[in-house]
Amino acid sequence: MKQNKSFKYRIYPTAEQKQLLAQTFGCVRYVWNTLLDWRSKEYALNGTKINYNSTSKKLTEIKQTTEWLNDVSSVALQQTLRNQDAAFSNFFAKRGKYPKFKRKSNTQSFRLMDTAYRLKDGKLYIAKSKDPIEVRFSRPLEGEHSSITISKDAADRYFVSFCSEVEIESLPKVDKIIGVDLGLTDFVITSDGEKIKPLKALIKHQTKLAKLQRRLSKKQKGSNNRNKAKIKVAKVHAKIADSRKDFLHKLSTRLIRENQSIVTEDLNVIGMIKNHKLAKAIADASWSEFVRQLEYKAQWYCRTIVKCSPWYPSSQICSSCGTITDKKPLHIRTWTCDCGVTHDRDINAAINIRTAGLAELACGASSIGGVKGKTKTPRHGALKQESPAFRHGE
Ligand SMILES: [Zn+2]
Repeated sequence: MKQNKSFKYRIYPTAEQKQLLAQTFGCVRYVWNTLLDWRSKEYALNGTKINYNSTSKKLTEIKQTTEWLNDVSSVALQQTLRNQDAAFSNFFAKRGKYPKFKRKSNTQSFRLMDTAYRLKDGKLYIAKSKDPIEVRFSRPLEGEHSSITISKDAADRYFVSFCSEVEIESLPKVDKIIGVDLGLTDFVITSDGEKIKPLKALIKHQTKLAKLQRRLSKKQKGSNNRNKAKIKVAKVHAKIADSRKDFLHKLSTRLIRENQSIVTEDLNVIGMIKNHKLAKAIADASWSEFVRQLEYKAQWYCRTIVKCSPWYPSSQICSSCGTITDKKPLHIRTWTCDCGVTHDRDINAAINIRTAGLAELACGASSIGGVKGKTKTPRHGALKQESPAFRHGE
């Protein structure tokens, strides 16, 4: 099966190339914001939904009066209109939030189609730059690529991401179905009784981050030292994001390999039920990213993800006799049912989640390679223009 997969590498632009990239990021941001403003006003005042062609015409007009827009690749500007149009389509189809204005302080990016870049002898040539940009190929680039996204993060690192079409070999079918409970003390608890701890590195980075943030808050606004401190904070953020991604990729790939179907809880509500202060932000981001990865990998490998109803009392049911017992406060880690069986709270919940998923699978007709259950759209990332599979390759 052909699938889109992204291959992301660090790039090392020269000072001159950084200048061009900065200019392009700026122009793309300007075009995005100007047209977003126009579209928003048209929609608010007249209820008009502006389409891509109209924005494209508008861009031509703007370029006549705003000459500096002509200094960067026109493909990058066109692509930002396409991205914006996709964001609006998502919004109108209730798949995403209303598009936001782009800010200079966030990650900057622009996209080029293969008419505006060329990869030759491992070197990347882009429109408007004479010399190629140095790419560090940390793993082989596979498949046929048709577009790239060049980005710069808050830690001042530059990346190129190739969107490639690759042949993904499906995994051999297996018989196993697993239930997965998501938690804080243990990140994942499976119906097999396996408990996977959250990544220690994250907690370590977290402490460092808190220290750096305290230091940053003491620096004078607008000072050079403050800027330096800001970049330090951004670098730790980037490290946290990198190690989280790596951890989640390994885990989601393993679960997808080992199981034909995976049953999880509905994330929209988990957020509310399991609302603890402790490392909540991290857990939140990790849960939704984890489920997102499971979903697109399931699609690649013809596996099934089943979401069980958020109102299903997975921690109250005795997985051995089926009795629904009283609600238990969170500090109760094990309990004994009247039937005599003693349960580990989380493993019991994971077994119940699996049972609920089995029931859902039994009554649903087509469920291969897709997502069953309440939420079809992941809560986070719904606004992203590319399909989830575009963004990370693993
Ligand atoms: Zn029982």
